[in-house]
Amino acid sequence: MVQSVAPQRSVLEFADSRVREWVAKPHRMLIGGQWVEAASGETFPVYDPATGEIIAHVPSGDAPDIDRAVAAARQAFEHGPWPKLTPSDRGKLLWKLAELVEQHAEEFAQLEGLDNGKPVQIARAADVPLAVDLFRYMAGWATKIEGETIPISVPVAGVEGTRFFAYTRREPVGVVGQIIPWNFPLLMAAWKLGPALAAGCTVVLKPAEQTPLSALRLGELVQEAGFPDGVVNIVPGYGEKAGAALAAHPGVDKVAFTGSTEVGKLIVQAAAGNLKRVTLELGGKSPAIVFDDADLDITIPGVAQAIFFNHGQCCCAGSRLYVNKKVFDTVVEGVANEAKKIRLGHAFDPEATMGPLVSQEQLERVSGYVQIGQQEGWRPIVGGQRYGNRGYFFMPTVLVGENESSRVVQEEIFGPVLCAAPFDDLDDLLRRANDTIYGLAASVWTRDIRKAHTIAHGLRDGTVWINCHNVFDAALPFGGYKQSGWGREMGHHVLQNYTEVKAVVVAL
Ligand code: NAP
Ligand code: MG
Repeated sequence: MVQSVAPQRSVLEFADSRVREWVAKPHRMLIGGQWVEAASGETFPVYDPATGEIIAHVPSGDAPDIDRAVAAARQAFEHGPWPKLTPSDRGKLLWKLAELVEQHAEEFAQLEGLDNGKPVQIARAADVPLAVDLFRYMAGWATKIEGETIPISVPVAGVEGTRFFAYTRREPVGVVGQIIPWNFPLLMAAWKLGPALAAGCTVVLKPAEQTPLSALRLGELVQEAGFPDGVVNIVPGYGEKAGAALAAHPGVDKVAFTGSTEVGKLIVQAAAGNLKRVTLELGGKSPAIVFDDADLDITIPGVAQAIFFNHGQCCCAGSRLYVNKKVFDTVVEGVANEAKKIRLGHAFDPEATMGPLVSQEQLERVSGYVQIGQQEGWRPIVGGQRYGNRGYFFMPTVLVGENESSRVVQEEIFGPVLCAAPFDDLDDLLRRANDTIYGLAASVWTRDIRKAHTIAHGLRDGTVWINCHNVFDAALPFGGYKQSGWGREMGHHVLQNYTEVKAVVVAL
């Protein structure tokens, strides 16, 4: 076993002094514009994944805190200045929030590194600018949530000609509960808050227990931007407590969840009590499909990035690799070489291209899956084990095998573990690519545009990338078929999740 790549001293010491001071201060939750402790007075620890050391304590929200936050959000939705603001005013607030996050970009990148473990340079390049862009994109939508006029034909007894004027309004759905995971903490908060606020909803956001810090800092900027009190409430806490209370709360009109398919099903059950609207962004087991005519110079690093970006902790990670048997050995060897080039290190190590997994639990989960894979006929050709003896580092891993009913092919591992298998027949390939409970994303690598589009149309997935993978944009809808979810994030499509359509009919 290699020596630890975790620093001997606290990772906090690498952070800027203002970030250190902010992390060290007593943390509160944001309810009705006030920073308050949990009603129970309890807190929970936040760990640095590179060392396992505790870096902060945050209030542990539970049902009474969710009650208070939902009441504040209801008050703000119905009575505050918020419902009286023009769409343009809401857009300006979102734009202001984007500017503030951008001004504090370095601080957010460091917070993500400390909390999630990802290299700060990756948070700087991806998480933070994408969050800023999302807020700007949604700022523009606030003024464009339009209804329509509808010519209706219902006959009025004995009278000829149009006798009605009918139109629709798109109104905010109300108080929204939002529950997010730890893989892109700030970006997931942006994906959720942006469209809800553009549409005029009010929000109670519960960040993941592993990564609450950037959401709390974002809450400070929400206030600085000038959002009225109670429009955004942020309640950190455990999923089984704060999360479950939010999903079940009768005062919540809609719940938006990102996380595992397993918890997604619990959310649906909890939401049934008052039939609140539900959208779900769940897991995936996305295939990357490589044909023998692909440009291997871009394909090999591309499919490596598809699985290894963010340590494989992406819902759309390209975790199943299907390669035409003529180029299978070349591609798999190439991807293994890419894996060997990855430099594991803590968030502030400038050479690091991959950090630790987020938690001890994830380390055990990923290690456990690799063991299961080996028992079920999957052979690691690179990686396959923990790296170092401190922190939650796991080696980028490529497994080769054939048993596609194995759990490593069927279940989401959510770590840097790729399962590679050859294919020959095209029809059989599509069947195999579609043969999981998931349908989030896929990529196709070929120079043949007919083949690329034919496969793209045959895949039962919410996103298909051709000669690329993990390409996101605020303007692109993202979400899953099958058990990968309900509804779409981003694009104009997400606004449907946060609005109700009202038909108004006037007798003329
Ligand atoms: P998770 O357990 O589904 O958690 C996601 C969020 O739901 C967290 O905020 C979590 O709180 C909360 N939660 C947990 N149990 C809940 C409950 N009974 N009621 C309401 N909320 C609840 O996911 P995770 O543990 O963070 O990660 C594990 C798996 O989630 C991954 O392996 C992957 O399958 C999936 N995942 C998917 C995505 C995606 O973008 N589609 C992103 C991240 C994770 P706590 O943090 O307190 O548990
Ligand atoms: Mg969890």
